[in-house]
This record gives sequence, structure tokens and C-alpha cells, in this order.
Amino acid sequence: MTKAAIIGLGTMGPGIAATLARGGMSVTAYDASADQRARAAQNLALAQTVLGNLGVPNKSNGSEIRIAETLADCVKGADFVLETVPEKLDLKIEIFREVEKLVDKTCILASDTSGIPITKIQAGVAHPERLVGMHWSNPPHIIPMIEVVAGEKTSPEIVKWMVDVIKSIGLLPVVVKKDVPGFVENRVLYALMRECVDLVDQGVIDVEGLDTCVSWGIGYKLAVIGPMALLDMAGLDIYQAVGSYLNKELCNRTDVSKYVTDRTASGKLGIKTGSGIFDYTPERIAELREQRARKLVSVRKTLQS
Ligand code: NAD
Repeated sequence: MTKAAIIGLGTMGPGIAATLARGGMSVTAYDASADQRARAAQNLALAQTVLGNLGVPNKSNGSEIRIAETLADCVKGADFVLETVPEKLDLKIEIFREVEKLVDKTCILASDTSGIPITKIQAGVAHPERLVGMHWSNPPHIIPMIEVVAGEKTSPEIVKWMVDVIKSIGLLPVVVKKDVPGFVENRVLYALMRECVDLVDQGVIDVEGLDTCVSWGIGYKLAVIGPMALLDMAGLDIYQAVGSYLNKELCNRTDVSKYVTDRTASGKLGIKTGSGIFDYTPERIAELREQRARKLVSVRKTLQS
């Protein structure tokens, strides 16, 4: 049985830990914050319930996820260590340096970074060949696609190991062949977000209209027909004709729009502060969480059927 250690129990850690445990790994998890460790049991239970609703087979043989009080205890004897701590290069390097002192030479190291090139993290560690990107999508216990990213020094055997592990737990590995910032998922998402924010900021459409247009006009379709297949469905001649006048009109700013920076400066960060682009009461937040998890579960079941 693979012994996995998960470092970081914030937004991503609990869902990842629950998914790996249900997939049959022996999982120990750790967070530097005592509050997060205390909250872990509840968050793990929530993720387990959703995995049950998804019908994911439970290969855990009833073994519980263990919450360690120290990093050393968490990674002791691990075959595989995944960090999912905040998106800061120095912090990730510091953690891997510490982990390398504590684990066996054969232990595989993985980072859930959203887009820091793996090569940059490798530059700070002693054995870069065993370090690989394992970029989960949020919520990690629901979204089945995981990007596997090789840094310049990652050994091909480690990439293969990671792909096989992801397949063995019933999920969908996608190998990113070049270690570009943002990998693939976030490059596509951020291109979309930049255009959306710009259209709202220019007054082309209101925020409700934008969300309806993208979710029902594009998102719903893309869940069934990927963008490359969609090009074939629409016709490459049509893409060429539209792209020839439209591409030059699209937003290409390299900074972040004031529409966003004004809000972040005034503490309007979204759901976590009760207000962002929309406003949220605690009741509305609970309702949205339940509704979104339920709908995502039901859509995934339909797409996999
Ligand atoms: P988060 O801030 O919600 O959680 C990070 C956790 O790490 C916190 O609980 C914090 O206490 C803990 N932590 C900080 N320093 C630590 C240390 N030295 N040792 C142990 N624990 C420590 O962050 P998150 O959203 O879960 O993101 C984690 C990583 O996953 C980031 O690299 C992020 O870019 C990536 N990611 C996030 C999402 C997302 O949608 N949130 C999606 C995919 C990937």
C-alpha cells in the first residue's frame, strides 16, 4: 500500500487526502496551523461524503486518514509526499528541503502548484529528478482531471509513476509536455477570465448576463465537446474567418484590471469576505456550497455515463 503524506490542509488538502485514501493509499496529513489541523476532520468527512455520492469505490479498508502534529511525523516512511501549501516559491522549496532530510531516497515528491514552473522548485532541492507537478483542480475530490508536469530535471519514470497512480484511482491524468507558467488549465482559464472581466468593465454586459452567456453558451458545451473538437465541429474555415477580424479585438492587457485590483484593495475578495463581485450572506454561502457540490456531482456522473 502506498504511504502518502499531504502537507497543507487548506482549500485543497482535505479533498486530495480523502481522494487518495479512498483510492487505497495510507494517508497522513499535516498543516502548520493548529486551527487547520483541528478543522481537518470535518473537512475530510465532507469530502468523503461527496466521494460517496459520486459512487467512487472505497478501497480504504476502513483505515482513517491520520493528522500528524509535526512535518517529521507526517512524512515518516512516506513513499510519496505532496505539498499543497500557499503559492509561494520560497515556501515550497523550504518545505521540500526539510522533507528531503526526513524521507528515503526513493520517496517521490510532488507539488500542487497552480502554475509555478516545476523547474524553479527543482532548482532549490537536492534531488530534483524525483520532483513532479501534480496539479489538482478545485474542488479536488470532484474534478477528475489532474495535470502532471515534468520539470526540466524530472525523470521520465517519475512522470510514468504519477500517471499510473492517477489512473489507478480512477482519475484522468493529463501530461503537460513543457513546463510553462500556469501549465495548461490555468493558461486557458486566465485567458477566459481576462476577456470576461474586460467585457464587464467596458460595460458590454452585466455580470449576471456574462455568467449566463459563458456557463450556458460555452461552458455547458465544452464539458461535452473540448475546444479542439469544437473547432472541427464549427469548421476551421469559420474559425479562420472570425479569428481574422476578432483576434485583434480581444483583450491583451498584461496587468490585472482595475476592476479586480480596486476590489482587492478594499478587502472585497469574494465569498471569503462576504463580498466581491457579488454579495453573500452566510446562509447564501452555505446554500451555494451545497448546490454547487450537488450539481457538479450530478454533471460528472452524467458525463461519465
Ligand atoms: P490555502 O491557503 O487554502 O491552504 C494552504 C494551507 O497550507 C493552509 O492551511 C496553511 O496553514 C498551510 N501551510 C502554510 N505554510 C505551511 C507549512 N510551512 N507547513 C504546512 N502547512 C502550511 O491554499 P490552497 O488554495 O489549498 O492552495 C494550496 C496550493 O494548491 C497552492 O499552491 C495553490 O496554488 C494550489 N491550488 C489551489 C487551487 C485553488 O483553487 N485553491 C487549485 C489548484 C491548485
